[in-house]
Amino acid sequence: MILILTLVAVAAAANSREQLDYNKQDQWGGSCQTGRAQSPIDVPFPSAVELASPPFLHLSRGSFNMTNENHPDTAKFSVNPAEGSVMATVPWMKDRQVTLHQIHLHWGETAAHGSEHTIMGKAYAAEIHLVTSYIDKDSSTKYMVFTRLFRAGKKENKHIAEIIAAEKREGNNRNIQNFDMESLYPPYTAVWTTYKGGLTTPPCTEVVQFAIVDEPLVVTKRQLKKLRRMSLGAGDLAPQRQNWRKTQPLNGRTSTKYYRGRDIEVQF
Ligand SMILES: [Zn+2]
Repeated sequence: MILILTLVAVAAAANSREQLDYNKQDQWGGSCQTGRAQSPIDVPFPSAVELASPPFLHLSRGSFNMTNENHPDTAKFSVNPAEGSVMATVPWMKDRQVTLHQIHLHWGETAAHGSEHTIMGKAYAAEIHLVTSYIDKDSSTKYMVFTRLFRAGKKENKHIAEIIAAEKREGNNRNIQNFDMESLYPPYTAVWTTYKGGLTTPPCTEVVQFAIVDEPLVVTKRQLKKLRRMSLGAGDLAPQRQNWRKTQPLNGRTSTKYYRGRDIEVQF
């Protein structure tokens, strides 16, 4: 049984000291204006659904030490490669082996819209991207970005709390020890959606497959306020009140929604 869906995007900006102007997205270079498979997207009604039995993601370990990249536009932490395997297996993609690179966040001026992707017109309060790469059949490097959305709620999110705390510290203390990646991207995730797009920051290269976990996490409005007010870079740059790209045309692209396990009732 097969249906299809569509989803939205990612960011993996270069670590330039110059801050990206999210109010001038129509002037971004690279493929940002000319590409036909850009991200993020408004994920539409699914055009295909697949019942998957394999797990969502098998990380090589549950938690990782993370290095603060002092990014000018977001909180970005790279997975520390100095301590063993930074590989993961994507069982539903024929056991594709990916290398973990980094996580970063997107947020907005209000809790009503901070996500890059929207789902059937609905925006979320924030979005986190786990960027991974793999070597494709044609020997080129491609990316898989694993995405989680956040809705505003009463319970503080522990991952975002750790990120904010690290951003406020100085020097090497800005890193995060034992970041719990597995609870952010659990192996037995029930429903996710995938589509092909590109980087959501210049040069917007179209080399990214997104996998968006359908179930949103919760973040508090207080945490969102801290994100949009925190100094970026090495703590020396202005905050970004908003760092999400607008949704881009589908241009005929489809997406696939995966349901893991056969007990789930599929309704459309
Ligand atoms: Zn991103």
